[in-house]
Amino acid sequence: MNFLTNIDSPEAQTLRYRMVSEQIAARGVREERVLEAFRRVPRHLFLPSGPFLMERAYADSAQGIGSGQTISQPYVVALMTEALHLQGTETILEIGAGSGYQTAIFSLLCKRIIAIERHANLAERAGRLLNEVGVTNAEIRFGDGSNGLPSEAPYDAILVAAVAPEVPTTLLSQLTLQGRLILPIGEEHGPQRLLLFTKTPEGIQRQDLGHVAFVPLIGASGFGLPADLGDMDI
Ligand code: SAH
Repeated sequence: MNFLTNIDSPEAQTLRYRMVSEQIAARGVREERVLEAFRRVPRHLFLPSGPFLMERAYADSAQGIGSGQTISQPYVVALMTEALHLQGTETILEIGAGSGYQTAIFSLLCKRIIAIERHANLAERAGRLLNEVGVTNAEIRFGDGSNGLPSEAPYDAILVAAVAPEVPTTLLSQLTLQGRLILPIGEEHGPQRLLLFTKTPEGIQRQDLGHVAFVPLIGASGFGLPADLGDMDI
């Protein structure tokens, strides 16, 4: 894995270190492994090119990535990542790969990632980018991930990067004991909460990590397809 190649730059690195200290550490993310991953992954590579790329990439907000989708605000990616307390040995299922940025962060923190994306163009681009930056422990799959991927289960952690109307119980059944599921639950254009579930011998523990705003999970255990299918691949 080698992110610091000629596709990065000192300017981008400076902006990234600032992003980590001012947006992520300042808001309470403390795990050094997590902070280091955010310093290393060149976030600007995962955004569509165009004017003000550096400003967009390292801004304290979500950004468009095409197909009506967004790359989450850096702090939200960091909050979700830290909540999983990864040691480096885990197998992770990520639902909603989008740009591939979260996948790249995970690649430095766990053993293996399978990431599913329902937009073919985004899935293709994320896979290509991860390959270009030298990520070898992640695999992007195209399709509806709202019911997880039972064929490769169990997972030590599952992250859903799109809001679901309720917790898909099938995802909980794909976790190992002590496994964690993190996902936003709520309304498509209304209140959403980021929830963390941990599978324990006594049952499922639930923790509320606060208010968030995500694009909808579309699919069998998500929301229905929008009436306008204009930019939809499936
Ligand atoms: N974490 C991503 C951001 C993802 S935005 C990043 O770092 O860029 C949420 C993504 O979930 C979108 O790309 C959307 O197309 C995808 N998505 C929505 N429903 C899905 C489903 N059922 N299966 C797989 N991907 C889905």
